[in-house]
Amino acid sequence: MANPDKLDLNAVEARLRDRAAELRQEIREALERSSDESHVRIAEQARDREDDSFANLVVDVTYAEVERDADELRRIDGALRRIAEGTYGLCEMCGGEIAPERLEAEPTATRCIRCQELYEKTHASTEAPRL
Ligand SMILES: [Zn+2]
Repeated sequence: MANPDKLDLNAVEARLRDRAAELRQEIREALERSSDESHVRIAEQARDREDDSFANLVVDVTYAEVERDADELRRIDGALRRIAEGTYGLCEMCGGEIAPERLEAEPTATRCIRCQELYEKTHASTEAPRL
């Protein structure tokens, strides 16, 4: 790494796109395996979609096997949008820069460490319990 303080947005974007493609594939396969016919129909509709519309299509699917993937895909879409808009890496709460190490570990992070901790403290009780 030549300059550890500077985030390589092209690399981040490529990584996010790879991951998004993987997730779309996983979601499609899970839907196709489903015994629920509406899931199989959604998988057919989703086949040729690559962008937001795919996430929108699966956003309402209540199927445990895809919900987690769909959620991650949504976060990735958000991160890609922020890269396009030039706001990637900025904390959505305080507007400050999110540390590159944090984005390295969690490319879809939308809050800096400080705000994330604050957020978790204030929202912890309302969130679904973690396993
Ligand atoms: Zn912040």
